[in-house]
Amino acid sequence: MKKFKNIETISIHSGLQHESLTRSVVPPIEVSTNFEHSEMGQQQTDYAYTRKENPNRNQLENLLANLEGGEVAASFSSGIAALSAAFQGVEPGSHIILPKEIFFGTRYLMTNFALRWGLEYTYVDMTNYSEVKDAQRENTKLVFIETPSNPTMCITDLEKMCNFAKSIGARTCVDNTFATPLNVNPIQYGADLVMHSTSKYLAGHSDLLSGALISAKDDDVFEKIRLIQIAQGAVPSPRDSWLLSRSIRSFPYRMRGHNENAGKVAEYLNQHPNIEQVFYPGLKTHPGHEIARTQMKGFGGIVSFLYKGGQAETLKAVAKSKLIKRATSLGGIESTWEHRRTSEVKGTTTPENLVRFSVGLEHIDDLIADLEQALG
Ligand SMILES: *Cc1c(COP(=O)(O)O)cnc(C)c1O
Repeated sequence: MKKFKNIETISIHSGLQHESLTRSVVPPIEVSTNFEHSEMGQQQTDYAYTRKENPNRNQLENLLANLEGGEVAASFSSGIAALSAAFQGVEPGSHIILPKEIFFGTRYLMTNFALRWGLEYTYVDMTNYSEVKDAQRENTKLVFIETPSNPTMCITDLEKMCNFAKSIGARTCVDNTFATPLNVNPIQYGADLVMHSTSKYLAGHSDLLSGALISAKDDDVFEKIRLIQIAQGAVPSPRDSWLLSRSIRSFPYRMRGHNENAGKVAEYLNQHPNIEQVFYPGLKTHPGHEIARTQMKGFGGIVSFLYKGGQAETLKAVAKSKLIKRATSLGGIESTWEHRRTSEVKGTTTPENLVRFSVGLEHIDDLIADLEQALG
């Protein structure tokens, strides 16, 4: 497969290689689950059965690997399925370190399944290096990182954390969903695995669910992940693989727009009298700004903030938006926001006046006007 250097070119060309006899520029969707055997009853091409491999999934995985600068990638039916594979790829009896502030679904997965998978785990404040070091055990095999984290955008120093993990013989897996490959490539900083909910910025249109694990090396751990992907079968359909590859072709340009609009929204909110605090790594006042500035090329499209008031007042403000839709997910070209605590289940530590805003690609003046009228 051809390798490209720059992300715009990678995004457009890395998923276009195909074997169709029509020489179509865009790959066709290979809906067949079954591929014909030879007269000797053997597999004749790279394909036998779509759960094992499918041309559209292979195109997508090649594209994802190139986007993150990894050797290989495995795609899944959701971000959570990718996370499940990452954790099940760790040997039973191992210990995992995770950030205290983490996507709620990841915490939910650990709470319900870690024990069944034979895994021990500790939550730490990952912005506090000594707390991370103190959490290590003899059997620590994975340091899981999420940066910026959900929902207050804590920034983890990737290089420092990857070096720490290496020094204790553990691997690292980075949830890069919020940052996206335009802004950060964790493998450059020494990460072993990069995880994405590709349902978010990579898909970009809130119309498809999928996830991915990209591995720096095509090694024995990745082999286990591939086995989990195929043997447990949480794979994306050919149509979803195709649609995601299609969406990724415009991803770098969309993401630049998200970075730009979110930066302006964060500045606006930061001086608003009804806003108590804004969480955006691009703001100089953000505790992770210095690390973010050196590690990220852009600061992403998510801005969280605390409204001055309690749960009821915050819900009321969120309900007043006319352009910004009330919805839980993120990364679409349309702006969405939510009262985050209401979306999470029991055990959440999210403040009752926190709003998480996924800043879309509408004109910035229209977004600011909507904020103006909703926030009062
Ligand atoms: C959405 C999300 C996930 C889970 O992905 P799904 O595609 O919804 O299964 C994991 N991590 C982060 C940071 C997310 O935003």
